Amino acid sequence: LIRRVSAKVQPRNPKLIRGIGDDCAIWRPAPGEDLVFTTDFLLDGVHFTRDLYSARDIGHKTLARGLSDIAAMGAAPQFCLLSLALAPDVDRRWVDAFYSGLLKLASRFGVVLAGGDLSHSDRVLCDIFVCGAVPKGRALQRRGARPGDSIYVSGRLGRCWREYRRPLPRIELGFALRGRASACMDLSDGLSLDLHRLCTVSGVAAALDRIPVRRGFTIEQALHGGEDYELLWTMPARRQPPRGAIRIGSIVEGPPGRVMLEGKPIPTRGYDHFRQ
Ligand SMILES: [Mg+2]
Repeated sequence: LIRRVSAKVQPRNPKLIRGIGDDCAIWRPAPGEDLVFTTDFLLDGVHFTRDLYSARDIGHKTLARGLSDIAAMGAAPQFCLLSLALAPDVDRRWVDAFYSGLLKLASRFGVVLAGGDLSHSDRVLCDIFVCGAVPKGRALQRRGARPGDSIYVSGRLGRCWREYRRPLPRIELGFALRGRASACMDLSDGLSLDLHRLCTVSGVAAALDRIPVRRGFTIEQALHGGEDYELLWTMPARRQPPRGAIRIGSIVEGPPGRVMLEGKPIPTRGYDHFRQ
């Protein structure tokens, strides 16, 4: 399996000195860049079910989750590591389709699969690690929103994992926000919870005046639903936002983390993995 996977790995990258096939991968970063790292689970029964998702969908989404975090930092994805636990009933075709989905997305964004681990479990478990690079000191962060900043999202909201099998990470938008956004994150747990997190670390509150709802979804889903994989960011109101940005409100002074919609506080009810 490892031989079949490493034969499929594209693209090569000159910074990758050693990829699949040794105890560790070796990566030589360019001078003047900061590296950013993220790791994400994609779990059978939590983030997908195998009746609703094909093996290709699962491979795609595993990497897309990690890439969405890289996009939120304004970084360019470099390489990834994948730890995969296979359920007893998956066959060779399933595994090949999984890697096809993952590697197709990887080649679209120039990410090289540099290694990982394989094991077995009663359910399919995918754990993706992604490294991104950004010019030194230019990574976007969640902290940095200031009262008076406008709040934007990159698309209409309300999707949940049942409908959204192949999210496309907003990598190019992340580049465009470097040096312009005061704070940025990706929406993976719902607007109300994610904006609350951004405001909490920035020490500010938010006043929303409109919620862009996807056709066929409700405002409740747009506020508290899960996995939009859009970017959420703030920038000074006088600054021109990139094309496609939807303004949803502004940052205000107030109790850190409080989010208001049309003057009323909204509950932070996004997807919390630890809620009973
Ligand atoms: Mg994130």
